[in-house]
Amino acid sequence: MSSSPNPKPFRKTVGFRLTAWYSAIFIFSAILLFGFSYFYISASLKKQEHRAISAELKQLASLYAMGGLDYVERKVTAHRKFERDKPFLVRIGGPNNETQLLILPAQWMEFDIKQLERISCENGVTWTSLHGKNGKTALELATIRLPDQSILQVGKSVLERWKILEHFRRYFLLILAPLVVLGLAGGSLVAFRALRPIRHIITAVRSATLGKMDTRVASTGTNDELGELITLFNEMLNRIEMLIEAMRDSLDNVAHDLRTPMTRLRGIAEMALRSNQSVEECREALAECIEESEHILKMLDALMDISEAQMGAMKLNCERIDIGDVVNHIGEVYGYIAEDRGISLNIRSPKGIWVYADSTRLYQVISNLLENALKYTPRGGSIDVDAAADHNEIVIAVKDTGIGIPEEELSRIWDRSYRGDQSRSQSGLGLGLSLVKALVEAHNGRVSVSSRPGKGSTFTICLPAAKP
Ligand code: ADP
Repeated sequence: MSSSPNPKPFRKTVGFRLTAWYSAIFIFSAILLFGFSYFYISASLKKQEHRAISAELKQLASLYAMGGLDYVERKVTAHRKFERDKPFLVRIGGPNNETQLLILPAQWMEFDIKQLERISCENGVTWTSLHGKNGKTALELATIRLPDQSILQVGKSVLERWKILEHFRRYFLLILAPLVVLGLAGGSLVAFRALRPIRHIITAVRSATLGKMDTRVASTGTNDELGELITLFNEMLNRIEMLIEAMRDSLDNVAHDLRTPMTRLRGIAEMALRSNQSVEECREALAECIEESEHILKMLDALMDISEAQMGAMKLNCERIDIGDVVNHIGEVYGYIAEDRGISLNIRSPKGIWVYADSTRLYQVISNLLENALKYTPRGGSIDVDAAADHNEIVIAVKDTGIGIPEEELSRIWDRSYRGDQSRSQSGLGLGLSLVKALVEAHNGRVSVSSRPGKGSTFTICLPAAKP
């Protein structure tokens, strides 16, 4: 397993991509905003110009109506002295648009005045944009036809508008460079902050791959998706650490528990190999070896089951089961053995009590308890198996009138490989009750026992009832 990270090209990192996206969106939004403002200002200025030209047009039209061409010329020339800054172009053409009056401010001499004669006008105001010969100036021109069919034209330079807009463009270009830097800095900051929890997770995974399972990712303190990911990730690490520890313990326990039978097996084989052993003795030793190895296999199976169930790694095929079916079936199987041993076996389990469990494992649990009851109950005794529903639980009790368990042993009978003092004469591995407890707890249930030495014992298991 390699622990050193493969160095990735920077442009392939999520951090780079986030920065690039953020910066691009930021800069694009700034340009969009500028474009929008630019066109808005430009349109507003143009509207303002049109308004000024329209006002002038209206005034000149009424002057023309009052005193004709001369009157207009006099008034305009007189006015011009006061309005040097923004003088209007004024032109009056005959019905065929031949120039009759032209008042042209000095700075507009470069315009091709001939083009004014080519502008036709029927109803209302006709707006035209005219460009100077050098292209550096432009004129916004309004044309109307007067009641006597003459043509009145008023124009105004757009130079002022152009200057304002040019300033605007120049300032934007000036702030574009800092804007790009700001976008990149913002993008990097966002990427750095957003990816911080991910970097912590990477560090934790890296130490986990090196075998340091106690590393945890520091919480972001937020309730967002990354906060949830970190919580789940830490929970997963907790579970893995727990499983590894449980596996280590199980391996130690299995190795410890198998040491005695393995030593015994080896002893039998060594004895048989001694040179002065007869064929008959060797045969006996081999038969003992087979018996011992079967014992070891059973023990191994039970130990593996207990470990799996305790670690939560046991695969349970849970389904809705009628507990009455299970108990009655087991009663039938063990009924003959009980009869053989002179023990009365009473099964009381109504049908229709449902439990959600793995049926094979449930059979194993009840059989183990019943086998123990048969083993530790002398001839003439009795065993009662009762199953009943109690609120949200199913309670199964196996009660015998056997030898009972001394008070000081009661807490230890669930331990692996523990065998009571009085039970040494009976065959057994000391694993039955540990397996029962592990299996019941794997089904989210619990076990308990009550016993009086010489009077008998009652083993009770409670399992969650299956939902209808
Ligand atoms: P084993 O029966 O193989 O010894 P178990 O784990 O099934 O192992 O039981 C552990 C111990 O609990 C037994 O050795 C015995 O001392 C005690 N025990 C279990 N069931 C009963 C019972 N029904 N009556 C009396 N003692 C029991």
